Amino acid sequence: MMLSQSVLNALVSVFVFNQCLAYFSVEKHDDCFCQLSGKIDECTCNIDTVDHFNNVKVYPRLKSLLLKDFFRFYKVNLKRPCPFWSDDSKCAMRYCHVEPCLAHEIPEGLKGATKDNNSQKTHLQTSPADKYARDQNEGCTSQHNTLDYLNKTLSEKAQKDIQLWNAHDDAQDNFCEIDENDEEAEYVDLLLNPERFTGYAGASAHRIWKTIYLENCFRPKRSFNFNPYIQSAKLNELCLEERVFYRAISGLHASINTHLCSNYLLSESNGLSLANPKGKWGPNLEEFQKRFSPDTTNGEGPNWLRNLYFVYLLELRALAKAAPYLESEEYYTGNDPNDWDTQMAMKDLLNVIKSFSDHFDESTMFRNTEQAEKLKYEFKQHFRNITKIMDCVGCDKCRLWGKLQIQGLGTALKILFSGKLDNVANNIKLDSHNKKEFQLSRNEIVSLVNAFGRLSNSVYKIDDFRQILR
Ligand SMILES: Cc1cc2nc3c(=O)[nH]c(=O)nc-3n(C[C@H](O)[C@H](O)[C@H](O)COP(=O)(O)OP(=O)(O)OC[C@H]3O[C@@H](n4cnc5c(N)ncnc54)[C@H](O)[C@@H]3O)c2cc1C
Repeated sequence: MMLSQSVLNALVSVFVFNQCLAYFSVEKHDDCFCQLSGKIDECTCNIDTVDHFNNVKVYPRLKSLLLKDFFRFYKVNLKRPCPFWSDDSKCAMRYCHVEPCLAHEIPEGLKGATKDNNSQKTHLQTSPADKYARDQNEGCTSQHNTLDYLNKTLSEKAQKDIQLWNAHDDAQDNFCEIDENDEEAEYVDLLLNPERFTGYAGASAHRIWKTIYLENCFRPKRSFNFNPYIQSAKLNELCLEERVFYRAISGLHASINTHLCSNYLLSESNGLSLANPKGKWGPNLEEFQKRFSPDTTNGEGPNWLRNLYFVYLLELRALAKAAPYLESEEYYTGNDPNDWDTQMAMKDLLNVIKSFSDHFDESTMFRNTEQAEKLKYEFKQHFRNITKIMDCVGCDKCRLWGKLQIQGLGTALKILFSGKLDNVANNIKLDSHNKKEFQLSRNEIVSLVNAFGRLSNSVYKIDDFRQILR
């Protein structure tokens, strides 16, 4: 059937009109994303480069790596009291609750450091600490029979002193207060306690973020103290190092809030009370838009998301820089086949990370020699304070993931700025001298890789929200 020209024209007009409507309604709802493009601040690469690299190459690898036992168990003290104010509110909802591991749930090789298995001597023999002690002892006995044997035995007092000196030297590099040696630290299974919506909000949560931005972030000189939150437009009044610090914290904040939106309690099953953790969990687009749309955030939401990409690139660079160290790790849990798998998966991930061409360039920071040392010291002090503030978070699950992500970021900063890996080229194996010079504890490695996993997950989930909208 032939259509007359006027009918055709009318159809074309209706089609064009509908397309425009669709375009404008996408534009309207797409506002979290339309400003989320172009170059990432302080870096040389674009948002979409990171999206592609992360979503195709990094995210799937991390997803399976983080299921491995080495990365699954994190040792943390969730009972340390808040050093700054008396704990005003404790989240009582079951969503906030964290269940520490029982002794039989922890992999054999990690048990040496737990307090409740002193009686299990067989486990102690397989702990990482014992394993290395045993290796050293074996070396000693074989030398005993040779003529040039040198007795290197030290008095107990001298050994203690050396331990203290070493601890002091290490602490100089550290950006975090370390939990793992605390008496009260316990292993937590991260897979059983996923980061998601907990309902933790209001005065207690605001006090934490406010204290971080107001007292522990560098601030533009003329920013008013009654508004603790820093406007992105004023960031150029800060120097590069101060901006990097702010962007890293803001990016972490954006990542935490992205997670609670992407793993939100959509409905409670069978009308059970709020205290029941069972229910339907999934992405909540409305919540995401409320938190990141320019309309509801004074134009800041997209900038906060850009900061998330920034902190992603910062941790990515730290992993690339520490690759020679991380490639020579054993990822020991006492289960040889699993440990070997973990080592291979980690090497594969590190190869992908090293292949990224636009890494964050930390060598541009702390260059002005007169100011550099002072600024670096302040940078470290601010960050250490933030690690202590994590003990004031009034919801155990938020505290667990807050501590882990802050320790992961602190470990990344230690890798980037301790100076000890600066001259180590990418494709070499670390010799024993370098390994002695630069040390990461098991918890530091676990937190670094998991924290990066969280950022990778956020970038992936942001793309999910983008797809849902379109
Ligand atoms: C360490 C920590 C971990 C948490 N973990 C969880 C969790 O696992 N699950 C959960 O449900 N809740 C968690 N929360 C709570 C959550 O982060 C929010 O505080 C809460 O949902 C209330 O949100 P809000 O919209 O009032 O603003 P908030 O996120 O509390 O932010 C307060 C103010 O900070 C500014 N702001 C917001 N985002 C940024 C940014 N990215 N950069 C700079 N400034 C910003 C805004 O002015 C905002 O009004 C956690 C809180 C903390 C402190």
